[in-house]
Amino acid sequence: MRKPIIAGNWKMHKTAGEGVTLVEQLNALTKAVQDVEIVVCPPFTALASVATAVAGTNIGLGAQNMHWEDKGAFTGEVAPGMLKDIGCTHVVIGHSERRQYFAETDETVNKKVKAAIKAGLTAIVCVGETLAEREANDTEKVVGVQVKGGLEGLTAGQVADLVIAYEPVWAIGTGRTASSEDANSVCAFIRRTVAGMFGQEAADKVRIQYGGSVKPDNIAELMAKPDIDGALVGGASLEAASFSKLVMFK
Ligand code: PEP
Repeated sequence: MRKPIIAGNWKMHKTAGEGVTLVEQLNALTKAVQDVEIVVCPPFTALASVATAVAGTNIGLGAQNMHWEDKGAFTGEVAPGMLKDIGCTHVVIGHSERRQYFAETDETVNKKVKAAIKAGLTAIVCVGETLAEREANDTEKVVGVQVKGGLEGLTAGQVADLVIAYEPVWAIGTGRTASSEDANSVCAFIRRTVAGMFGQEAADKVRIQYGGSVKPDNIAELMAKPDIDGALVGGASLEAASFSKLVMFK
């Protein structure tokens, strides 16, 4: 059985103080939750404060990005060990906004995934097609290339512990959600791709999230699908009231 994982990507929102308040409110609402893994992903500047706020709670802490090198002359970048050092448990890698605005490629995603694993962080690896690619019926082709490129060179055991987030670009922040059937069908395709690369055991264990305008009124339907193991959530993770409803989707 795969434990559902609901992760909130705060993007470039929340100061350190606002992040702490949000997590305190969230914890008050979700502290009894045991059967769902909860993760919040604040901006870098709020990570240390939020790390203190989540200590002793059932809420994990993720960064939204990192560099793949351990250290060095990479102005403006943050190393995997630095995230681990301040209490991160997870890191989002290859979000479509990073691919779109910051030139991330499957190759850099692959380097980052390997570096995250080496540092003991759980990588949330994002894949997903654009609207033009979906309309050209290229969804599986595009997502297949992203999965193969992003996970190349990993072991089956490493892949089993990963989280993959299927996020169709056209559904992120737009209010347009993929239908639960379409979302499940791509998540199932990702699982088959993982099975082809790493074997059935890794495919059965890897958790695959859907992301793209997940809200309290569509989470239950999405989570009822057999290949959807969680959600990566932007907008609805910025308020404790809505994010707690996603976490308590059952
Ligand atoms: C995201 O940030 O990954 C995301 C899915 O955003 P939203 O939920 O706002 O569509």
